Amino acid sequence: MKKVLITGGAGFIGAHLSEYLLNQGNEVICVDNFYTGSKKSIVHLMSNPGFELLRHDITFPLYVEVDEIYNLACPASPVHYQHDPVQTTKTSVIGAINMLGLAKRLKIKILQASTSEVYGSPKIHPQTEDYWGNVNPIGPRSCYDEGKRCAETLFFDYWRQHNLRIRVIRIFNTYGPRMAINDGRVVSNFIVQALRGEDITIYGDGSQTRSFQYIDDLILGMVKMMENKNDFIGPVNLGNPNEFTIKELAEKVLELMPESKSKIIYKELPIDDPKQRQPDITLAKKELSWEPKIELKEGLEKTIDYFKNILSL
Ligand code: NAD
Ligand code: UDP
Repeated sequence: MKKVLITGGAGFIGAHLSEYLLNQGNEVICVDNFYTGSKKSIVHLMSNPGFELLRHDITFPLYVEVDEIYNLACPASPVHYQHDPVQTTKTSVIGAINMLGLAKRLKIKILQASTSEVYGSPKIHPQTEDYWGNVNPIGPRSCYDEGKRCAETLFFDYWRQHNLRIRVIRIFNTYGPRMAINDGRVVSNFIVQALRGEDITIYGDGSQTRSFQYIDDLILGMVKMMENKNDFIGPVNLGNPNEFTIKELAEKVLELMPESKSKIIYKELPIDDPKQRQPDITLAKKELSWEPKIELKEGLEKTIDYFKNILSL
């Protein structure tokens, strides 16, 4: 039994991870400033004596005593991370320095939730971990992409310079229940639009691709990475290699909701929107014996059920 700190613990992934680690018998300290996260996503954990919630912004130092850190704090949806880009970079960079400092003082393991965005608009396909990426340093997505790249640099320098035990995962597009209704990312947008009978908004011509991973698969991979005994530090891709165009995703959502009155419409493609994205997960299979199990149809069905419930409340 461990005492685990999860930054961004009230966010989409953080809430699922908190629940999983509590169910395994651990104590969880959830740190969040509620920028995109919400108490609603963790309210069911509040009565658990092993769960503690701290309202705190990780761009400021934090003094707690824990055994392990998962550093997840950072808005992940383009709409939200571009809303206050300076704060996004601060959260990724200063937040990482604060959490690495805490891990160094306590001599504990720390895992960084990095992202497929470090590959930018990739020129090799699928993306392997040794690809250095194709990232615009001055565009509207840069606060997130470059912030996350700098955080990876810091993690590897703390490892080289201070022998800190680090873990770095690169998460590819993940979806599932408990995403916020206003999250703005594509899966929740399409499902909420279809349920409300609103137009389904495809940005660009919908030929850009993403590979969608269901949340439960990610959580198992994250925990395997944190707990691996071989001192495999990564970076490692965690994603589902099945790749779809955004148009295919819209069509699948509508297929699963034949009662929906929504129609597909096309809007302008955001600047620097990556054209394609697919993880090569050979390394995760080899080092962690991990691969995703839940295919898009099954994951979408579960997510649709979740949004149906909360929208009918
Ligand atoms: P989310 O926006 O739902 O959760 C992020 C959480 O961090 C929120 O609860 C937010 O309030 C909190 N937060 C933001 N800034 C903070 C700060 N300065 N101090 C304390 N808390 C802060 O996003 P998510 O999908 O749960 O993503 C979690 C992590 O995983 C992020 O670091 C994200 O970059 C990474 N990631 C997610 C995906 C994905 O597809 N979901 C893909 C790649 C990487
Ligand atoms: N997208 C879309 N309609 C939406 C939201 C997103 O067509 O309502 C597109 C977006 O332009 C991108 C893809 O879906 O090409 C994935 O976007 P998301 O914001 O989920 O994450 P990203 O992978 O871009 O960070």
